[in-house]
Amino acid sequence: MENVDILTIAAHPDDIELTCAGTLIKMVDRGYSVGILDLTQGEMGTRGTPEIRAKEAEAAAAVIGARFRERMNLGDSRLTTSIENRIALAEKIRMAKPKTVILPYWEGRHPDHYTAATLGYEACYAAGLKQLPAGGEIHRPKKIVYASMYWEVRPSFTVDISPWFDRKLEAIKCFSSQFSGDLRDVTELYPAWGRLIDRITTQCKYFGHLMGVDYAEPFVVKEVMAVDDIVTLPVVSV
Ligand SMILES: [Zn+2]
Repeated sequence: MENVDILTIAAHPDDIELTCAGTLIKMVDRGYSVGILDLTQGEMGTRGTPEIRAKEAEAAAAVIGARFRERMNLGDSRLTTSIENRIALAEKIRMAKPKTVILPYWEGRHPDHYTAATLGYEACYAAGLKQLPAGGEIHRPKKIVYASMYWEVRPSFTVDISPWFDRKLEAIKCFSSQFSGDLRDVTELYPAWGRLIDRITTQCKYFGHLMGVDYAEPFVVKEVMAVDDIVTLPVVSV
């Protein structure tokens, strides 16, 4: 694992594609390095197998242009914020030394998703503790941003991904085992491909329209953001 500018951490392979892949691709194009950590192997998924999902995850990482994608094995659908998990993740954070960490939003339907948010935060903090019984040099990432895709969650900021939207879809498409299926046999939990694309497109358009662009991805920060220059403040009010 090499040092990266941005480390994105999520519960399952395909989580980051659905929430923030457009932003990651944009950042790679800007010259930043990106690493991906999946906390579980997605072994509880109704569709596909861990082996298939591993191949799909690698293909998606290549579309994104990530420097690495590592899949930990902390237990799909039984992810916990145990001290062991915190130390294991802190060690990875020390190895990658990210400046910015992207975590999933801290509320959600799937327990793994909000658990990943808490575990990720606690591991970022722990990675900076000198006495932590873990390998690697101490490192505490300065910035944590939470990737959301919930209509009801007002983002702290949105990232214009309009020119990168097609590549986001391409990354999602790598996970064909998860999203293919009979269009007539769909449920909210396991959307068929066409329905999923429709949903993602609508979400990114919605958040894009909040900032006056075609497509955007939303993020939340817990802290107040400091602004140095209100003349160049990137906001369009009227
Ligand atoms: Zn997930």
